[in-house]
Amino acid sequence: MWDLIIVGAGPAGSTAALSALRSDPRASVLLLDAAAFPRDKVCGDGVAPHALDVLRELGIDLELLVAGTRPITRLRMRSPGGVVASRAFARPAHVVPRELFDDRLVRAAVAAGAVLQRRRVRTIQQTPRGVLVDGDLQGRTVIGADGCESVVRRESAARAAPPGTLAIAVRGYAPAHPWPANEQLLAMTRIRWPAYAWAFPIGNGMANVGYGELLQGPPPTREHLARRLHELLPRAEPGPLRGHRLPLSTGRPDVGHGRLLLVGDAASLINPLTGEGIYYAVLSGALAGRAAALAPDPACSYRHWLRNALGSHLRQTDLIARLGRWPILLDIGAVAARERQPIFDKLIDLGLGDGKIGPAIVPAFLKSGLRLTTTLR
Ligand SMILES: Cc1cc2nc3c(=O)[nH]c(=O)nc-3n(C[C@H](O)[C@H](O)[C@H](O)COP(=O)(O)OP(=O)(O)OC[C@H]3O[C@@H](n4cnc5c(N)ncnc54)[C@H](O)[C@@H]3O)c2cc1C
Repeated sequence: MWDLIIVGAGPAGSTAALSALRSDPRASVLLLDAAAFPRDKVCGDGVAPHALDVLRELGIDLELLVAGTRPITRLRMRSPGGVVASRAFARPAHVVPRELFDDRLVRAAVAAGAVLQRRRVRTIQQTPRGVLVDGDLQGRTVIGADGCESVVRRESAARAAPPGTLAIAVRGYAPAHPWPANEQLLAMTRIRWPAYAWAFPIGNGMANVGYGELLQGPPPTREHLARRLHELLPRAEPGPLRGHRLPLSTGRPDVGHGRLLLVGDAASLINPLTGEGIYYAVLSGALAGRAAALAPDPACSYRHWLRNALGSHLRQTDLIARLGRWPILLDIGAVAARERQPIFDKLIDLGLGDGKIGPAIVPAFLKSGLRLTTTLR
């Protein structure tokens, strides 16, 4: 009988293990993953400072976590209508290839006392004593951190992602020389909106480049995604492209029942405005690990803590994602961000962290909207 079994050792799973062991150092924690580490994961590799805050709290050595990369201090954003806003981040971001980032995190979890085993989990069953994994492993609590195609989510009968709440993206690695070394680029497009391409320099001479769009109707072909990447970033010369789906937080399932909890992508926790999921993964992992270690009813406490941490932020991003179906709103946002640093900072916190925008932003948006329509005329 393990105190906690975690299925999936990506950022959400490793952080859940670290958090459980920090809350109760004597807990027995089993971390299962289908892959052997280090392993690649299709991602933009952008790590927001908000994610590093969560990991710092858990005692992670941040210098080691981001070693070999350079801080990214600026963002250049081109809105769907072509408005460019380029500004300094309030706090630097990092671009850490997931092959390194996830390996470093899982090593930290093992160093803290978690037992890592390679296994592709196939079945989950709640029993009066806890949760049975694959019919032969018994855990008092199980955390599903097994990503977008989560088996734990399917087996726990949580509802599947509703239509319009999944995105798809491809990414590859390209020489970084066409772009400034300290700047992330987002190039949005009206075609198949919402959709954008990105170039995220790592600091080792290479950049992570990619293109993604919301899944609406039949899934696009790989050729289509590669072509759109080339059209939006014509100077990018990426190696092989790999694709993956993104379960957006607009399609959130219930995040837990009894002694079975879902975190990260398994809980559809990806920001619908940016596709950012590492911050939500480590935050939800940290909360679920703590609930598993300390709470008499882990799912109830976890749901409550997650709601306190992210509830109103998720409601806002949900609403803004709906309104943002009109690309002109993104053009107005870009004008506002270009003109005022505080607006830019608020939009960054909303897209990368747990930020909220208060009513104070409305007058700035109205002014920018007016200015944009005057320019267009
Ligand atoms: C193209 C693309 C670009 C992105 N760019 C960014 C970005 O720049 N910044 C950002 O913050 N987010 C980005 N995201 C989102 C981010 O990748 C995810 O939100 C994040 O990886 C979620 O972490 P996780 O731990 O929940 O899941 P994952 O990282 O997917 O980890 C899941 C783990 O579970 C394991 N697993 C799966 N099934 C099983 C099973 N049955 N049994 C055992 N183990 C299993 C897998 O091997 C894997 O190790 C991007 C996503 C995509 C697709």
